[in-house]
Amino acid sequence: MTALGCLAVLAALSGGLGAQERYPVDWGKLEPEIFERFSALLKIDSSNPPGNETRVTEVVEAALQHEGIAVETFALESSRANLVARLKGNGSKRPILIMGHTDVVGVQRDHWSVDPFGAVRKDGLIYSRGANDDKDHVVAGLMVMLLLKRMHVKLDRDVIFLAEAGEEGTTQVGIDYLVGHHWPEIEAEYALAEGGSVIEADGHVHHVLINVTEKVPRGARLIARGPSGHGSRPSPQNPVVHVAAAASKAGTWQTPLRLNDSTRVYFERLAAISPPREAARYRAILDPARSADVDRYFLEHEPGHYTMLRTSVVPTMLQAGFRANVIPSEAEAYLDIRALPDEDLTKFFAELRRLINDPAVEVVPVQNGGRPAAPPSRTDNAMFHALEKVSRVMFHAPVLPGMLAGATDCAQLRAKGVECYGFGPIAADQDGPLGGAHSDDESISVRALEKLVEFLWNAVIEVAAS
Ligand SMILES: [Zn+2]
Repeated sequence: MTALGCLAVLAALSGGLGAQERYPVDWGKLEPEIFERFSALLKIDSSNPPGNETRVTEVVEAALQHEGIAVETFALESSRANLVARLKGNGSKRPILIMGHTDVVGVQRDHWSVDPFGAVRKDGLIYSRGANDDKDHVVAGLMVMLLLKRMHVKLDRDVIFLAEAGEEGTTQVGIDYLVGHHWPEIEAEYALAEGGSVIEADGHVHHVLINVTEKVPRGARLIARGPSGHGSRPSPQNPVVHVAAAASKAGTWQTPLRLNDSTRVYFERLAAISPPREAARYRAILDPARSADVDRYFLEHEPGHYTMLRTSVVPTMLQAGFRANVIPSEAEAYLDIRALPDEDLTKFFAELRRLINDPAVEVVPVQNGGRPAAPPSRTDNAMFHALEKVSRVMFHAPVLPGMLAGATDCAQLRAKGVECYGFGPIAADQDGPLGGAHSDDESISVRALEKLVEFLWNAVIEVAAS
């Protein structure tokens, strides 16, 4: 017997064979099935509004039930059902929740080069609304459930699969409804959801970004009112002038730079795997004495990093007037504000008012979807270590804990004490997490899709298999 063979026998005798080896999967063979199931989901137009997510959950439900997996659906509105399926473990550990949302954002059809609900496969890519956000996670969750069942995997913890509705701006029918009315059905120690990505540069994986926290979406309306009048007569009370000046001040405000535990570890680890010039920058941002220059550099060249370091304020809409020669009686600007998880918003808005410094402009905070703030998920538990191990084995790459600038349903789960981690498909460096999401010609590569399913499978096996 070879030395390697001896080791294998010894490992088997000592029960040392990992779950990974006991449950091997032939991914090449599964490719047609993954693609077929994915296409079926993509071809359903679940644009939100109105959503019609029930049409998606019906397809998922049929697939699960066909293989003997029981399914429950919960719906605040019958056309917007959420689906929950559970595979039971021996109860020695608390459940893990794997999830994906079934709704997608709408499309501007004439901006697409292909049918946005055609699941067109071309040059190794699959084009469709939802290909990246988030039917990839839905099909990954579905496949993992089917595989666990087919391979009779013995589990230490329940594996719960949630396909949730309404993530794109109507969480009252989705995660809020589930958390509020069906919490026992989805309660878990860990959750895996959208929000991260596998960052590829120059043909190899550079690092794996796992979202452990996210910014809190808020907003503000800047409103000015005054007497309307003729466009030929300048007026100091012109609301257009007041709102434009206020929006300009807010939009050029360099809000204070502040690191938290997640972003600190992120930049430390990023420095460790970056070329010298970049590494020096990522180290300098951690040093208050040297961070200002780098911060300015980020604003110009690395906006994703700039926003990670602060509560961001971005004017996105201006509304005023209806005729070229009329001073309108009202003008309004909208600020998209993405707060750091621990931001004191009362203080922040007071600061914003001080900055605008114009009693004619009213600053009205907007709740904006109501994502709750919560502490970051931990980076020292079994789940995070499992994600690190899987990243090492699959991609030979380290994990960087990230803070997502966007918002996901993880926010609601973290607020309930669930350790929630955002993972995602392979993406090019410049795209970043959720890079291709919401864009025209949204797509995912066949390889990225397969690796996403494989990543979720490995992570679940790692923390849940007996
Ligand atoms: Zn999404």
